[in-house]
Amino acid sequence: MTKNMPTKPILKPVAPLRRPSEAEAMEAVRTLLAWTGDDPNREGLKDTPKRVVKAYKEWFKGYDMDPAKELARTFEDVSGYDDMVILRDIDIESHCEHHIAPFLGKAYVAYLPTDKVVGISKLVKVVEVFSKRLQTQETMTAQIADAIEDALRPRGTAVYIDAKHQCMTTRGVHHPNVSTITTHFTGEFKSNLAVQDRFLRMIKP
Ligand SMILES: [Zn+2]
Repeated sequence: MTKNMPTKPILKPVAPLRRPSEAEAMEAVRTLLAWTGDDPNREGLKDTPKRVVKAYKEWFKGYDMDPAKELARTFEDVSGYDDMVILRDIDIESHCEHHIAPFLGKAYVAYLPTDKVVGISKLVKVVEVFSKRLQTQETMTAQIADAIEDALRPRGTAVYIDAKHQCMTTRGVHHPNVSTITTHFTGEFKSNLAVQDRFLRMIKP
């Protein structure tokens, strides 16, 4: 192959990924325990695989949740309300896809409704759906905004996330105080800087 030949993407057959059984997952945890240098059979670690698998079910429950379903029920009677709907200080508990290390922080979500709104708890749920998966903060920020866009077709959506990544605070560069901020703006939040600025002032993170 010469250097100038166009490179074609390698098309892999998409085999449906088989979800391992709980027993297989526990065995994998045992392997990791042994790999640390410890003895998976000692008293304190005996039940750790079971506990880790249970914790994973909670940390990664977002894979079994559908954001569209969470946002399906909308309300059209808003008595002419057309200003921003903002949710502040939504706790984020997620795990980075590079190290499976936790990253923790706050999310701020807003939209400008057109003719329908959604229950505010549903917006929190959408944040949960995407945060309870292996993530990058950037991807998650965009996914939350896209899900709201798809469901509500609002005049604009804003998502602001401020989080600390333990893969950065407890390992690697060891900078415990660094937090990462990501934003995603659509519609009027993107095109109208005054609207965007008002959102940022109102959330005052
Ligand atoms: Zn990481």
